Amino acid sequence: MTVRLVAGVLVTVAALGVAAYRAGWLARLVWAGRPIPPERLPTAWDTIRAQATDVFAQRKLFKRPVSGWAHALTFWGFVVLLLTIIEAYGALFQRDFAIPGIGRSAALGLIEDLFATIVLVALGVFTTIRLRQSPKRLDRRSRFYGSHVDQAYLVLGMIFLVIATLLLYRGAQLAAGVSPYQHDGRWPFASKAVSYICPDSMAFETVFIVGQIAVVTGFLVLVLYSKHMHIFTAPLNVLLKRQPKALGRLGTTPDIEQLMEAEDAVIGAGQIGHFHRQQLLQTLACTECGRCQDKCPAWETGKPLNPKLIITSLRDEMLAEGVLAGKDGTAGENPAMLVPDVIDPDALWSCTTCGACVEECPVDIEHVDTIVDMRRYQVMMESQFPAEAGTMLKNIENQGNPWGLRADSRLDWAVGLDFEIPVVTDVIPDDIEWLYWVGCAGSLEDRARRATRAIASVLHAAGVRFAVLGPRESCTGDPARRLGNEYLFQEMAKANIETLQGAGVKKIIASCPHCFNTISNEYPQLGGNYEVIHHAQLLSRLVALGKLTAKDPVAAKLTYHDPCYLGRHNGILDEPRSVLDQIPGVERVEMHRHGRRGFCCGAGGARMWMEERIGKRINVERTDEALGTGADVIATSCPYCLIMLDDAIAQRRGEGKADGVVVIDLAQVLADSVGLRKLS
Ligand code: SF4
Ligand code: SF4
Repeated sequence: MTVRLVAGVLVTVAALGVAAYRAGWLARLVWAGRPIPPERLPTAWDTIRAQATDVFAQRKLFKRPVSGWAHALTFWGFVVLLLTIIEAYGALFQRDFAIPGIGRSAALGLIEDLFATIVLVALGVFTTIRLRQSPKRLDRRSRFYGSHVDQAYLVLGMIFLVIATLLLYRGAQLAAGVSPYQHDGRWPFASKAVSYICPDSMAFETVFIVGQIAVVTGFLVLVLYSKHMHIFTAPLNVLLKRQPKALGRLGTTPDIEQLMEAEDAVIGAGQIGHFHRQQLLQTLACTECGRCQDKCPAWETGKPLNPKLIITSLRDEMLAEGVLAGKDGTAGENPAMLVPDVIDPDALWSCTTCGACVEECPVDIEHVDTIVDMRRYQVMMESQFPAEAGTMLKNIENQGNPWGLRADSRLDWAVGLDFEIPVVTDVIPDDIEWLYWVGCAGSLEDRARRATRAIASVLHAAGVRFAVLGPRESCTGDPARRLGNEYLFQEMAKANIETLQGAGVKKIIASCPHCFNTISNEYPQLGGNYEVIHHAQLLSRLVALGKLTAKDPVAAKLTYHDPCYLGRHNGILDEPRSVLDQIPGVERVEMHRHGRRGFCCGAGGARMWMEERIGKRINVERTDEALGTGADVIATSCPYCLIMLDDAIAQRRGEGKADGVVVIDLAQVLADSVGLRKLS
């Protein structure tokens, strides 16, 4: 027993020493980041909910059922098998040690062996998945592209050794008659089976008890030196994640005026140490599973942007000694510039901020905030951005809209309507309930204007009392913000809030999901608080209340495209569908990628105003998917999506592939059915 005890203690002390050194070093690297913004710190309820759903229940992993179940069972297995580690350590001191109270129950023996067996089966599943997607055969369509797959095999091997030594030491205990489950050895069934090949030998038993301790503590060291450190960092990241999720508003709203006055102010992230601590921690939480990359529209269409590689490149940069000077946590003398040294500029500017990566990530990594922080640095500190985006910024600055059109043309869409659109010139009248925020696209772009006319017409038909701001309305600042120009965003936002406050506005209808998202989720941080509704929600409500009756059949096979900022970012998925499903004659079919897993049209993140020079155009990819359903109407509820998809349809029509297919807003379909206009 003495040899066993000494060997067990020596192995443990050595492994824990190495692990503690590594953990301390990693902690210092993370601590070298900026302080975490206080609003991100979780409440007790947030903590319990996030740990229960995302960590313990492994909620997001089940989106891929096979690997999800295998991962969850391995995780739960290791939670249960912590008890066997206690038993192994106890056996260093007392040969027939049992956990006090429960340690000799047959049920415990059964549960431990059951989970040991399940983990072995899960290992087989993981190995099969990895072999089938072997890196040798990888191309960019594999979700393991660029992942450290060899490390994964090493870890799978270690997990196998954990289970193998576990069953061998328990089998040896049963063979020697010193198992805590000796009185009913059938229940730890796997250990019992192994016991038939084990000799009745204390030396044999000692080898595998110490072996189990060596493998478990060695595994701890391996984990801390590999991507599998997510076992520890992912729960921490989930704890500190943006609640309830990192979609909708952007993560930080810096006090831009104060920052611009300070001489040494840094806006955004240009070097690794400019990120805040939670952003650095999340690079260590990445499991390299590739779920984000698999759903990224930019990667899918051949662009260099890969959200997984963004996160792992930042992690590699942080881990590279000297960048943060590692040892004392202070910034190194010549830290690399993230763009272009670590991140390819083409990757940075390819992001549409669609949020698909955030939605998919099982450990709640916040790619969009990280990307926008790097964009902020490029725009605000370096004045580096695609030239076309510069034109858009100037137009917003000078004319209040990205197209650079005159403000007095903002009401042109209403010309010819057979009812009057009230315009708020001073304070919104008492008999007007809603302000209709038309948005720049809806006011100024011809195709989007048709949708605006339909929306206004059905609202009028339903008796909704609304008014517009007309020339007093300006861009919300969304494209400027997503491009990284936080200053311009805040200028626009403050001016709009002043206008809205001055007009006494309380309730807003937005027909553009980008305006909807910005006004409802981002203006409150700058003092603008309103009840905001998207037109799809309001129309759904009006139809349900019987204020609009869709009576005329619209004979169309129709597919609905979810705008990212309505569906994924704000969870508005059912209302648009409920409107369309009320329309007689409409045969609605879903695209494969729909709902929260909808595919971007390519316009968000200010991409609408940038050239798409690399790979297949995202709008064409999405339109091809829509055409694949056989639909002759592609309906949406966003002017950006409408323009992008219509452009792609025009291209495909020119190739003879989309004859008779139209792209319209769902309000246009509804207007047709309530007898207001003809579908065009
Ligand atoms: S937000 Fe969308 S485009 Fe940007 S990295 Fe994530 S998935 Fe890709
Ligand atoms: S960022 Fe998230 S989804 Fe992407 S590879 Fe890492 S863990 Fe997986």
